[in-house]
Amino acid sequence: MGLTVLEKLPPVLDPLPGGKQMVNSVDFLVNWARRNSLWPLVYGTSCCAIEMMSVGGSHHDWSRFGVEVVRATPRQADLIILAGTIVEKMASRLKILYDQMPAPKYVIAMGACTVSGGPFMYDNYSVCKGADTIVPVDVYIPGCPPRPEALLQGIMELQECIKKESIRTPRKPMPEPIKVHEDPWTKANKEWEKSEAARKDALEAEIAEFKAANPDYKAPKPERKAVEKIAAIPHKPKPAVGLSAVDIYKAVKGNFVDIAAFDVVTSEDETVEDVLSAKNSDYMLEVKVSQNQYIDLIKFLKTDDKLDFDFLNFVTAVDYLDHFDLVVNLMSLKFNHLITVRCEITDRQEPKIETLSQIYASANWHEREVYDMFGIQFNNHPDMRRIFLNELADEFVGYPLRKDWQDNVEGRYIPKPY
Ligand code: SF4
Repeated sequence: MGLTVLEKLPPVLDPLPGGKQMVNSVDFLVNWARRNSLWPLVYGTSCCAIEMMSVGGSHHDWSRFGVEVVRATPRQADLIILAGTIVEKMASRLKILYDQMPAPKYVIAMGACTVSGGPFMYDNYSVCKGADTIVPVDVYIPGCPPRPEALLQGIMELQECIKKESIRTPRKPMPEPIKVHEDPWTKANKEWEKSEAARKDALEAEIAEFKAANPDYKAPKPERKAVEKIAAIPHKPKPAVGLSAVDIYKAVKGNFVDIAAFDVVTSEDETVEDVLSAKNSDYMLEVKVSQNQYIDLIKFLKTDDKLDFDFLNFVTAVDYLDHFDLVVNLMSLKFNHLITVRCEITDRQEPKIETLSQIYASANWHEREVYDMFGIQFNNHPDMRRIFLNELADEFVGYPLRKDWQDNVEGRYIPKPY
């Protein structure tokens, strides 16, 4: 990049008598204007952003420091405050925003997440370990989250840095971060656009061919029907409490004798029913079932009139290193009660279990997420493929929520050292 008009002044003025003072005065004036009119870009990705917003409010009021005109476009901003966790998917977007800001531009990394990955530093595959792996950072503000006063202090530190700048030594662009953040999503998008364009071309060719073969063809006019008026649906009050944990347990145990209550400890003279009866009314029953009875139990929970678990809350899994537990949480919207069903999967090499998607349609996506994170396959699933992590170009290797998973990308995954 060539020198600006201001930067061309020192070589001309400095040799002249009184020239140095003139350059110093220009420095003072330019730095004074720059440091007192920082225009930040609207950028906040999680909790730290709330603290940043409060600095914009009347109590802390960053307008007092000239940080006033928060811009919605990077082209009009010269400061970006990175407030909040930066995930790998966001990294390439952040780089684009930074590149679009005009120079001289400044970056404040606010909060532990942005500075180093913070609480997500270890055992995490999705969070960037420091904003300076993506863009050059001028001021780091530690804390989780830093208080508004800390951000004000950070802004003042940045102003101090700007105060020391000189047109004699123009601000050099900071070195580019070492890590290259790939952008598989744009790549996938382009591939999709290409396939859509090909599909459109093929369709247009077919239409042209059809028209040539049938020159007199006229498309039938759509029939119009009067819109039926739908009667207002009467509001149905929600039942306050459904069955208690002990009642659900008895109903289940009556049909599936091998079922065990999970995490219920009994003494010698106590039964599981006694322990469950003593629990609070909001205690949620968890039961453990074998793979043989898993589907039958879920069908029973859904179809039994008294239980009527008509809603699948979620499906997830827990890795116990020697086995997985598949965890299914069900709810009855009618009776407002809950149950959790656990099913052990012992084969770690090829973990498999029957799908629930024929019983609950929403299980389709939940199970794909479990497959994506744990590698557990669901037999007879209609669409068994990854849901979050890119599979288009084999970008993501392994299953990140398995305890023995190790990342193949250097620096992305740091196991906890203690
Ligand atoms: S540093 Fe703490 S407060 Fe800030 S984004 Fe991270 S977790 Fe949230």
